[in-house]
Amino acid sequence: MTVTRFAPSPTGYLHVGNLRTALFNALTAAKTGGEFLLRLDDTDRERSRPEYAAAIEEDLRWLGLHWTRLIRQSDRLDRYAAAAERLRASGRLYEAFETPEELEVRRRVARAAGRPPVYDRAALALSEAEKDRLRAERGGHWRFRLDRTRVDWEDGILGSVSIDAGSVSDPVLIRADGQVLYTFASAVDDTELAITDVTRGADHVTNTAAQIQIIAALGGTPPRFAHHSLLTGPEGEALSKRLGSLALRDLRAGGTEPLALLSLLARLGSSDPVESRRSLREIVEGFDISRFGAAPTRFDPAELAPLTARYLRGLTLAEIAPDLMRLGVPEAEQAAFWDAIGGNIATRAEIADWWRVCAEGPSPGRIAAEVSRRADHAFLHAARALLPARPWDGETWGVWTAAVRAETGRKGRALFQPLRRWLTGRDHGPEMARLMPLLRFVPDVPE
Ligand code: GLU
Repeated sequence: MTVTRFAPSPTGYLHVGNLRTALFNALTAAKTGGEFLLRLDDTDRERSRPEYAAAIEEDLRWLGLHWTRLIRQSDRLDRYAAAAERLRASGRLYEAFETPEELEVRRRVARAAGRPPVYDRAALALSEAEKDRLRAERGGHWRFRLDRTRVDWEDGILGSVSIDAGSVSDPVLIRADGQVLYTFASAVDDTELAITDVTRGADHVTNTAAQIQIIAALGGTPPRFAHHSLLTGPEGEALSKRLGSLALRDLRAGGTEPLALLSLLARLGSSDPVESRRSLREIVEGFDISRFGAAPTRFDPAELAPLTARYLRGLTLAEIAPDLMRLGVPEAEQAAFWDAIGGNIATRAEIADWWRVCAEGPSPGRIAAEVSRRADHAFLHAARALLPARPWDGETWGVWTAAVRAETGRKGRALFQPLRRWLTGRDHGPEMARLMPLLRFVPDVPE
C-alpha cells in the first residue's frame, strides 16, 4: 500500500510552496487508496510553536486534505536515540567537535586550494583523550559517515539522479545540545513508518542522497522519491521573499476558494492545462506526477481570482444552501437569490454583501455620495414616484424603466445606471430584473 507523508516544520504558517508538497503527497496516496500522514517536524524546540502546528492542521482541513495519522517528531525522540545507538555501534555515527568558525576557515582553505569544501573528517583521527578534553570544553556533535560512492535513484519527477556522496560533507545528525536534526529524524521516521513515496521540493535533492544511505545503514528500504521544482513569482523571481504574503490563511481571508487553489497547484508546472475542478476526487483522477517538469514553476496569485469566481459560479443551489441558510436567506427565496447573484460574485463574502443589499438596502452613505455626484435628484424622485406596487416579479424592472423613460426621456446608461446605483449602492452587479423581486428595501432619495 502507498503511504505518503507531508512533513512541515511548525515554525511558521503554510504558504503556497508548502501546499504544493502537501497536495502532491495527498494525491499520490489518494490515487491508489493509500495512506496520507501528517508529520510535524518539531525537533527544533526553539522555533517550533504549538500555534503554528494548530494552524497547519486548520489550513489542511480548510483545503480538504485529510490525513489518516498525525505524527509529532517530538514524541519520537526515544526512537531517534535508539537509531543513533545502532549507527554508533556500526561505526556510521561519529563525534566531531569543530566550531562553526573552524569549519568556515577550513572551507575557505579548501576552496582556495581548488578542493570542494567538504568536511575533512579530522574528528575520526582524534584519540579518546583528545575527545574527552574537547567534550568537556565545548561538547560534541554527531556526524553520519557517508559511503563515498555514487547514490543513484529513479526520481518520480527528475528521472535518473546520481549524486556523488564524496562531494557531500558527512551530515551532522545530532547537535551538541542533543537536538536531533531533520536529516536523521526524517530518515528514521520514513523507515519506521514504512513510507513508500516521498515528494518534496528540489531543495532536498542533496539530503536525499544522504538519507538514502542513512536509511540503508538502519536496515531500511528507501522510499520512492520525487522532487518537485520550486515556485517562482510571475516574472521568474524567487518567491521566497514573498511567501509570507502567500500564506494559505491570507489567501483564505482574501476569498480564495480551496478548490480554486488546489485546481491551480495540481496542474501548475505540469504539461496539462489548469482546469477548474469541482472536487478533490476530480483532481485526483487527473493527477499524474510524471507530467511535472523539473524547471522552476511560475506562480501568479492573480490566477486565483478567476478560478475562484469560476468555481463559485458553478455551485448548485444545494451546494450553496448551507451558506444561504447561515446568512438568513429564507428558503423560499434561496433559488431566486442564487439565480440572481451566483454568476456575479468573485468571492463567497460577496454573497453576504448582496444579501444585505436585498434585505437592508445599500448603506445610506453610498447612496448619498452617488446622488450628489450625479445630481440626479429630480430624476430619482420621478423614478421613485413611478415604482410599481408590490409584489415585484421578473417583469417589474422592465415595466418600471419603460415608465421612467417615458416620463423623463432618458434612455440607456443614463436611465439604468442611476436606478441601479440608487437601489443597490453599486455600479455593477447582477441583472436588475432578477434582483428587483428580492429587494425588500427601497432607499430614500436624499434631498
Ligand atoms: N520538515 C522538512 C521541510 O519542511 C520536510 C522535508 C521532507 O519532506 O522530507 O523541509
